[in-house]
Amino acid sequence: MPEGPEIHRAADNLRKALEGQIITHAECPYTTIRGQEHRFLGQEVISVKARSKAMLIHIGDDILYSHNQLYGRWTIQKVTSKERKTNRSLRIKLQTESHVACLWSATDIELLEPWEIEQHPYIARLGPDVADQDLDIGPVLEQVQNPKFGGRQLCHLLLDQSFLAGVGNYLRSEILFNAGLDPTRRLKSLTSDEQALLAEAALSTTQLAYTQKGVTVDKDLYELLREQGMSRRQARHFVFTRDGLSCHQCEGLITHTRLSGRRLDYCERCQV
Ligand SMILES: [Zn+2]
Repeated sequence: MPEGPEIHRAADNLRKALEGQIITHAECPYTTIRGQEHRFLGQEVISVKARSKAMLIHIGDDILYSHNQLYGRWTIQKVTSKERKTNRSLRIKLQTESHVACLWSATDIELLEPWEIEQHPYIARLGPDVADQDLDIGPVLEQVQNPKFGGRQLCHLLLDQSFLAGVGNYLRSEILFNAGLDPTRRLKSLTSDEQALLAEAALSTTQLAYTQKGVTVDKDLYELLREQGMSRRQARHFVFTRDGLSCHQCEGLITHTRLSGRRLDYCERCQV
């Protein structure tokens, strides 16, 4: 499943193609929006935003809310390009003078009024979105210091979108490595220095993944490892999917485990 940085990059691409443009053609075959083409036709696309894993496209008076779940995907093509063949089911097609944007296979699609957004059940429970380029450290540190989350283990907490939105599975492993924290630690056991390290790592790791297209190690290190023949999967992260390989920091072996039902990789020596 795509994580925050991937959704934000998808939003950037949709924004480039649609924002400020007029919808010239629309198709809405999916049940929750069927027959609503008239609400898009002739309207301007005012903004495109990602909120955690949801996409919000403001068109005319409405906001098109979609959550991709596991299989949903947006594609964008120039009007002049040949239509790509796909087995996916079309959910919505939005066309401007120059581009065609299609959402495929998603099942969570709604048309909302702008005032309804903050009360939407998915949006309302989101914590600060660490993949959002405008977020600063303040709200992240506030969550880390919030006693409400104190009894939770870091490995479970980091996948909870009401704690920090935008973090998914590879980011969980990478954030804990960058913060130097053992995945089974409880939030309330952190010293104030460790709280600051966790907040900083959550924000900087996710933002780096956004700018480097999913790579969480330094670009120079990534390129060096690729030149040495390592696969993208083994070169792009510090610990995630690197079990059995040596840690870039201490040269100990990376350990693999499953927590919250999903893979987690970490360095026993660097994370305490
Ligand atoms: Zn290490």
